[in-house]
Amino acid sequence: NKRVVLKRYVTGFPGADDMEVVTGTARVAVPPGSTAMVLKNLYVSCDPYMRGRMTKHERPSYVPDFVVGEVLENFGVCKVIASGHQDFKVGDLVWGMTGWEEYTLIHNPESFFKINHPELPLSYYTGVLGMPGLTAWAGFFDVGKPKKGDNVFVSAASGAVGQLVGQFAKLTGCYVVGSAGSDEKVNLLKTKFGFDEAFNYKKEQDLDAALRRYFPEGIDIYFENVGGSTLEAVLPNMRIHGRIPTCGMISQYNLEEPEGVHNLFEIIAKRLRMEGFMVFDYYGQYHKFEQEMAGYLKAGKIAYVEDIAEGLEKAPEALIGLFTGRNVGKQLVAIARE
Ligand code: NDP
Repeated sequence: NKRVVLKRYVTGFPGADDMEVVTGTARVAVPPGSTAMVLKNLYVSCDPYMRGRMTKHERPSYVPDFVVGEVLENFGVCKVIASGHQDFKVGDLVWGMTGWEEYTLIHNPESFFKINHPELPLSYYTGVLGMPGLTAWAGFFDVGKPKKGDNVFVSAASGAVGQLVGQFAKLTGCYVVGSAGSDEKVNLLKTKFGFDEAFNYKKEQDLDAALRRYFPEGIDIYFENVGGSTLEAVLPNMRIHGRIPTCGMISQYNLEEPEGVHNLFEIIAKRLRMEGFMVFDYYGQYHKFEQEMAGYLKAGKIAYVEDIAEGLEKAPEALIGLFTGRNVGKQLVAIARE
C-alpha cells in the first residue's frame, strides 16, 4: 500500500519534501462484524485547505491537523472492494474523505456519497461534481444572491471553484470578469469559460486601476478566493449593497502573520455584506446539486478543466503547486483508473 505521509509540521511556505511517499502492507478485508468498508482509491483531490492541516494548531481548527508520520487524507473517488455496511456493496463507486494511498479502511461509510453518474468522467467527483463544485454553487447562489445584470468579479478564476463561479454568473445573465496568474489562464477564462473579460493580476501595477477599468459602474458581487491586496483593491470598487461571498483567502495561507487589509470601512459606507461560508454546511443539498450539475455537463452548458498528476509520487508536488499557481484548472491525482 503506497501512501503519502506528513514528514513534519509546516510553518511558512510548504515544500514537497514536507511529505514522503512510503510503502506498507494494505488492509483489504473488513474486520468481522464491523460496518466498515475497504476502498480502492482511484483519484484524490488536491485542495488549498490542506495547507492548514499541515500546521500544528494550538487551538482546534475547523478540521483536524494531519499527524506527522500518518497518511494524509482528503476527498477522493473510490471503488468499494470489501464492505460490512448494508448500504455499500463491493463494486460501488463512491466519493468522500479518504487516504492519500492505494487502499483505505473506512470506519464511517455513512460519510460517503454514492456516485450517481458514472457515465461522466469519474475524476469530476473531485471537482465539478464534488466538493469544489458544491462550494461554487452554494457560494455563488446562496451567499452571493445574484440577479440578472449584476457585475461579478472572481479571483483565482481559472481554478477548481472559480471557473464554475464564472460560468454560473454567465448562466444567470451577469457580466463577469476574472483574474488569474498567467496569460494562459486568462485566455482560458475568455475562450473556454465565457468570462466577458479577464486579466493577469501579476501584470497589473495597480489593481484598483484595473478594476476601475473593467467595472466603471462598480462590482455587485465579488467572489473572494484570495484575500490580501486583491480584497483591499476590490472594496472601494464595490457598489452599494454589494455582496462578497467569502470562500477562501489563499494569499494568506502560507504567511506566519496575516496581512492587514486596508479599506475595510467601505463595508460600512457601502452597506456591503461580506459573508464567509463553509461547503460542509451544504452537504445536505448535495444530491440536488449533483443532479443539476450533471444536467449542465450533459447539455454542454458547463465546461470543466482538470490538471491531473499521474501517481502518488507526484501528489506532494501537485499539492504545493496550488500555492504557486502551477495548476491549470482543478488539480487532482490519479492513483488508478478502475
Ligand atoms: P484553485 O484551483 O483555484 O488553486 C489555487 C489557485 O490560487 C492557484 O492556481 C493560483 O492561481 C491561486 N493562488 C495561489 N497563491 C496565490 C496568491 N498568493 N495570491 C493570489 N492567488 C493565488 O483552488 P480552489 O478553486 O480549490 O480554491 C479556491 C479558494 O476557495 C481557496 O481559497 C480555497 O481555500 C477556497 N475554498 C473554500 C471552501 C469553503 O468551504 N469555504 C471550499 C473549497 C475551497 P493563479 O495562477 O490564478 O494565481
